[in-house]
Amino acid sequence: MEDNFNLLHTTEAGGRRGQLVLPHRTVETPVFMPVGTLGTVKAVPQDVLESLGAEIILGNTYHLYLRPGHEAIRRMGGLHKFISWPRAMLTDSGGFQVFSLAALRKVTDEGVRFQSHLDGSRHFFTPEHSIDVQIALGADICMAFDECTEYPAERSRAEESLRLTMAWARRSLDHFRAHCHEVPWYDEFQVPPVSHLRPGSDPRQSLFGIVQGGMYRDLRRESAERLVEMDFDGYAIGGLSVGEPRELTMEMIAEVLPLLPADKPRYVMGVGYPDEIELYARMGVDMMDCVLPTRAARHGLLFTSEGRLNIKGKKFAEDQGPPDPACDCMVCRRYTRAYLRHLMHSGEALSGTLNSIHNLAYYLGIMRRVRKDLSGGGQLA
Ligand SMILES: [Zn+2]
Repeated sequence: MEDNFNLLHTTEAGGRRGQLVLPHRTVETPVFMPVGTLGTVKAVPQDVLESLGAEIILGNTYHLYLRPGHEAIRRMGGLHKFISWPRAMLTDSGGFQVFSLAALRKVTDEGVRFQSHLDGSRHFFTPEHSIDVQIALGADICMAFDECTEYPAERSRAEESLRLTMAWARRSLDHFRAHCHEVPWYDEFQVPPVSHLRPGSDPRQSLFGIVQGGMYRDLRRESAERLVEMDFDGYAIGGLSVGEPRELTMEMIAEVLPLLPADKPRYVMGVGYPDEIELYARMGVDMMDCVLPTRAARHGLLFTSEGRLNIKGKKFAEDQGPPDPACDCMVCRRYTRAYLRHLMHSGEALSGTLNSIHNLAYYLGIMRRVRKDLSGGGQLA
């Protein structure tokens, strides 16, 4: 949508402090977005996410399309209403999951034929279909349908993959522009003060293009330039954190960022560890998402100011200290390492919940601190 990003302050290193103005929320950036694959950030209730300060969460198009189905969600008023999440949301295009989860997939210029990982049922996803599903789900931000190039990939393979992604980006954008007003909440958001958007502005979803090109700098540049020409509402860098060394991830991000328009949001998909998200935010990335804080939590791995902590360790059996002495999240204020270890060992459901809450608090806390640093000494939160 027009003017969906306010750039408030820029640092010499390229870091950006901004605001993403979306129909359901003005999101302070740089921002970390917890991943809510199936309409839930695993093991963490929505009210807790709110109290942790999460402003925008992800939903996965492929998963929600298969279950409960996008038409059912549309009939219930969209994903925000269905899961009772009033703040901002973003849906991916389904491309990544189709390529990594679905069986027997066959890719043609038209789209991807695949079998569901749930029941083996057959489906066909095209850029147009992905956009239709994302409009029905009604997240504030949709993503163009792309092919995530695997790592390592030969140059010829990366070129072919990029050709497909660019053609699908064009088709995604054309279809989105023709149908974006069909989003379930469109009429409801026309009238201020229901919406915090400026009177007269169009309360539609945003569509981001996705830069691919494997680990080839010139292909990454070509991809970015062609997407910018198409004029998306924002730009993502995809196909990273797919097994490549971290220096390469950083190199690709550094190559692409200067080519993207300063007045549009920039999103690096699927990263990363706590030190990575801080680094990329300081380089000028506005948005990031990753399953790591919640997935690692369910396996007993906590991210703390003292480094990574495997709560299963025997040495915590009678440890009366908080998970992270420097953290003031609701878990660290109340529970001990010994208790978290006991829950994990006993296979208690509360284990995943408490570990996830702390890890998310840690990630969101990093971004809060980075935003403060990037504010240039001003009064921005
Ligand atoms: Zn904590």
